[in-house]
Amino acid sequence: MQYHDAAIRRIMNEYDELRTIARAKRDELVEKVHNEIPEIKKIEADINRLGIENFGNIIKNPEKAQEINAEFEKNLALLNEKKAEILKNNNIPEDYDEVKYTCEKCFDTGYEDTKKCSCFTQKLINLRYDLSNMKEMLHDFSEFSFDYYSNKKVENLGITERENIEIIYKKAVEFCENEDAKNLFFYGGCGFGKTFLSSCIAKKMMDQGKTVIYTSASGIFSDYEDYKFGKKENDDFEITRDLMRDSNLLILDDLGCEVISSLSCQLLNDIINERIITGKKMIISTNMNMKGIAQKYSDRIASRIYEAFEILHFAGTDIRVQKLLK
Ligand SMILES: [Zn+2]
Repeated sequence: MQYHDAAIRRIMNEYDELRTIARAKRDELVEKVHNEIPEIKKIEADINRLGIENFGNIIKNPEKAQEINAEFEKNLALLNEKKAEILKNNNIPEDYDEVKYTCEKCFDTGYEDTKKCSCFTQKLINLRYDLSNMKEMLHDFSEFSFDYYSNKKVENLGITERENIEIIYKKAVEFCENEDAKNLFFYGGCGFGKTFLSSCIAKKMMDQGKTVIYTSASGIFSDYEDYKFGKKENDDFEITRDLMRDSNLLILDDLGCEVISSLSCQLLNDIINERIITGKKMIISTNMNMKGIAQKYSDRIASRIYEAFEILHFAGTDIRVQKLLK
């Protein structure tokens, strides 16, 4: 739990810093605008003065409050109109004097009312899974290149590599846009674009404010076994599992490369089932086909994947090799 407390403290400090930076940026911009266009500064001061005067007038003549207020509203509207016009003429956004927070949902506090904001959960995930490496790994859909896929027919599919990847790409985009899209099962050899496309999806979902865990299957299984055999602090794996349950998208990369035990097999089964039951999204990426999955893990796991996942077969020529040759 110590690790967790330290992580939360670190994140809270990060939020403090974000808010301080956001306010400083606002102050800086306001000062700049006031220096360059003193008229704006004057109008803003007039608006403030008007509010104070209005308040004083109402206190002095409460019986005339309605009249006084109407006059105030009229004058205020005139000033605001004038201010908006000057800002517009100078290409300054009307909300220039508002603080722009990184997260508009929680204003960089980590909480929406009493609920943890998704940006908070993502920060916890980032710390735990060390997504600092991943940030550079994340790609945008627009960076995806179809040029690495030839017009050679893919065996068993009856379409070309290029046609095949176009279908997969479309499914990946749909997956990000449609809440009810099926989970994705990416299989195929190394260097066919599975990881690249997974990272495009991860980025897109994170941009939508969703929480994403991107982890290697072998890492999770070995952490689980360490935990089961008491090699690690107890809460540690439980926190990992909680974050996994919370996350909107779980990407399990490189399934099949690990030495599997019956313990890990059960964990995989639990993870898949719980995501199906809670309707949370998952991507499995592997170089094994369904037959291989059934043999290595179990028929039960293979059949769950078959039901709940869109099975997509990546085919082509190793992109890394192609890049090298270029
Ligand atoms: Zn937030």
